[in-house]
Amino acid sequence: MSKLAIDGGKPVRERKDFLVFGTPKIGEEEIAGVVDSMRRRWIGTGPKVGEFEQAFGAYKGSPYSVAVNSCTAALHLSILSLGIGPGDEVITTPMTFCSTVNSILHAGAKPVLADCDPVTFNIDPEKVGRKITKRTKAILPVHFAGHSCDMDALMRLARKHKLRIIEDCAHALETEYKGRKAGTFGDLGCFSFYATKNLTTAEGGMVTTTKKALADRIKRLALHGMSKDAWKRYSDSGYVHYDVVDLGYKYNMTDLQAAIGLPQLRALEENWKRRRLIWSRFQEAFFDLAVDLPAEAPAQERHAYHLYTPLIHKKFKRSRDWVLNALTAENIGAGVHYRALCDHPYYQKTLGWKRRDFPIAADIGDRTLSLPLSPAMIDKDVEDVITAFRKVMKA
Ligand SMILES: *Cc1c(COP(=O)(O)O)cnc(C)c1O
Repeated sequence: MSKLAIDGGKPVRERKDFLVFGTPKIGEEEIAGVVDSMRRRWIGTGPKVGEFEQAFGAYKGSPYSVAVNSCTAALHLSILSLGIGPGDEVITTPMTFCSTVNSILHAGAKPVLADCDPVTFNIDPEKVGRKITKRTKAILPVHFAGHSCDMDALMRLARKHKLRIIEDCAHALETEYKGRKAGTFGDLGCFSFYATKNLTTAEGGMVTTTKKALADRIKRLALHGMSKDAWKRYSDSGYVHYDVVDLGYKYNMTDLQAAIGLPQLRALEENWKRRRLIWSRFQEAFFDLAVDLPAEAPAQERHAYHLYTPLIHKKFKRSRDWVLNALTAENIGAGVHYRALCDHPYYQKTLGWKRRDFPIAADIGDRTLSLPLSPAMIDKDVEDVITAFRKVMKA
């Protein structure tokens, strides 16, 4: 095996070809769509946002979809729309992005963590059960990497204790569980269109729900709490006065973003197939390394293949951070999803979270890394990731 780049050897890729983690696949249709919006001079919230909401709802089989400017906004408004606030508790996982708990905190409620499963990295329903109190109002599961949570068990808990469910579907656009699409189990599903996600609008998000009252409230809160949206206000049907009927936010999506999202939605299946292929190449190529391979979804489920997250064995002679640095030296970008939330100083200080209370998430957070898994990767990129990861793990 050749000398590691971190030790001064020749890297697998040239420096100028550094493989950036999470590069989105952007086609000519996305570019033309943005240019079209610019030429029409309708760049704010307008007809394309409406069209994107319709198309997204049709894909998900969800009666109501509201586009917003991020998944963080989607989560925040979802919690508010259910009337959850000060004095209430929401149970979620320590193995997620910080914005999942930040949105609970922004709503004035208290996030309560239930540790995750060591194989799927998903919230463990049994541990959720132990965290339910009189103050618990909702469960906020995250379908990690696109692998569905155990929705039967979570829905049972919700029914038994009269809790709401808000699904964080930031990884789970294409995820299905027993024939049903992620984001349609709970009261609300929240999606992210951040640059690295399975569908991107640069920044953006969506809330799906089966309840019209929730959709109406979210739509209002996303635009200053105004009763009529700006698009209707200035359309050719004449001037319409608005009333401020709620204390809202500035969370609306723009037509420039929706113009990117529409062709991205049409390419969803093709991009999913490409990621599935890359994922299975990785599974074959890494079986003999000192890692636990990411869990495959059971046959009756559909994995969204958002992240490829091998878990480095405890006994491996090097740390995860060394592996990250060694990959970077080979000019392969990697990520970490995630260090457990209990490791962050803000939550330790304000909520008293400690590693020992969430031993599984803390351990995963120390040993996991994410290899590039983007439909924009050509075959040579995939082979370079394989060569580099094998080189680093076998050195
Ligand atoms: C990306 C992500 C978010 C936040 O999405 P934004 O659109 O960037 O606000 C929330 N939860 C999870 C699990 C994510 O991966």
